[in-house]
Amino acid sequence: MEQKCKYVFVTGGVTSSLGKGIISASLAKLLQARGYRVTIQKFDPYINVDPGTLNPYEHGECYVTEDGAETDLDLGHYERFLNVPTSQANNVTTGRIYQTVIENERRGDYLGKTVQVVPHITDEIKRRMKLLGDTGNFDIVITEIGGTVGDIESLPFIEAVRQLQWELGEDDAIVIHLTLIPYLSAAGELKTKPTQHSVRFLLESGVKPDILVCRTEHNLNADIRRKVALFCNVNVNAVIESIDVETIYDVPLVMLKEKLDKVVLAKLKLAAKQEPDLEQWREFLQNVKHPKNEVNIALVGKYVELPDAYKSINEAFIHAGAANECRVKVKYFHSELITPENVNDKLKNYDGILVAPGFGGRGIDGKLEAIKYARENNVPFFGICLGMQCSVIEYARNVLDLKDAHSSEMSEITKNPVIDMMVEQKKVTQKGGTMRLGAYECAIVKGSLASKIYGKTKITERHRHRYEFNNKYTAAFEKSGMMITGVNPETGLAEIVELPKHPFFIGVQFHPELKSTVENPHPIFVKFIKKALELKVL
Ligand code: GLN
Repeated sequence: MEQKCKYVFVTGGVTSSLGKGIISASLAKLLQARGYRVTIQKFDPYINVDPGTLNPYEHGECYVTEDGAETDLDLGHYERFLNVPTSQANNVTTGRIYQTVIENERRGDYLGKTVQVVPHITDEIKRRMKLLGDTGNFDIVITEIGGTVGDIESLPFIEAVRQLQWELGEDDAIVIHLTLIPYLSAAGELKTKPTQHSVRFLLESGVKPDILVCRTEHNLNADIRRKVALFCNVNVNAVIESIDVETIYDVPLVMLKEKLDKVVLAKLKLAAKQEPDLEQWREFLQNVKHPKNEVNIALVGKYVELPDAYKSINEAFIHAGAANECRVKVKYFHSELITPENVNDKLKNYDGILVAPGFGGRGIDGKLEAIKYARENNVPFFGICLGMQCSVIEYARNVLDLKDAHSSEMSEITKNPVIDMMVEQKKVTQKGGTMRLGAYECAIVKGSLASKIYGKTKITERHRHRYEFNNKYTAAFEKSGMMITGVNPETGLAEIVELPKHPFFIGVQFHPELKSTVENPHPIFVKFIKKALELKVL
């Protein structure tokens, strides 16, 4: 008989930013490596229907799935760790829950009833919590609850977890609570009180955590573990230490050592099966920690104050570095601070330049300067989305001599909109979820740099944009040396531009960083680093 799906809920206490996403992804990795089919989903308490409309400064990068959902950046960790794509169903917000319930109400589904948080909102949360499990595709679904217990907005989620655990039974649904054991240096002690309080809050809400994962800067000795276990009402072996580590990719191994996976399986009454096969993972870590070389990459963007804004790009560089046995040192440059006068000085010690995705006109001039510098000085260049669009604008202005060339996103009056709004976007009036999103095919020209990079001519990549290369200019660009080497086979939309005379110059309309994983580092990142290494400046 097919085993029914089991559920693991991950809540967070004491403070935000404890790394629930990484703990969830690490546990999932271990269970997957033992032979279970696992997925992870995230429930976020904010009221935006999805994070697509959030400023990257506020919430970090918006991660796009194959099916075109704009999601929380934790889904990126899930994919990078598990090497399995996620979907719209893997990220649900309070906004989406309410939207559904209100639509149901307007349709008349609850006729005669007062619609309330309990049961209507909690029922909808529970329905969505079980959606992936109900497909039959998974043995275990891990659900991360965003926010911190005690927040007003997470209450309905905690209540839904309580009800689900009651409905499914303790063997089929367990709760892991991630908490912090702070170290007070003045007292020279680790303090368990905040953890006790946050567990008490959960207990008051009717949820008893089965496992505590304790973030800490110092090892927990047997006494502390016993104390936490006693006061928080869990088994001593269910107090898991999560000590600070060098890289997030260490966490699965740290959790393996702490036996988190075994404790989870025992509580779910599932067999431990084989020892986890983490050979490839360990090899990757070895390369990350003991690189033989080093390259310096300049990342030019405008959200540089918050590294989370370029999360997937950073991680893709780590994957690509490991593949080249090389450390990739990424230095962020704020594009607003790059000028014709200082560009040379700023960028001369870098082995490669990446111009990042983005929206709006702020900082565009600095991006164009950086691209001009890379083009004229044969520095490996990689432009992503807006970065690709900027490489087109730079080329139009400085090589085709179309001085006013621009994107119609930045200038509505330019006579040379070399980047223009996609036709289907012109009728769009709402901002949320309306860009060209998700996976689309791209046909690559044989013999191009892209075809060598991918080793094939048919690919699919993920997108998030409203503007595109204006095909009225294709002939002029190609005649003077900028080639369109990848197009969408259905619409002819330009996906890749290259300068064949340059050692490595590629701009892509899509977001390759979203598909880079530990097991499958993205080929453009890998080859970009390889070339940067070959042409290394110092
Ligand atoms: N702003 C550009 C567009 O909408 C690029 C988007 C991006 O870089 N993700 O087309």
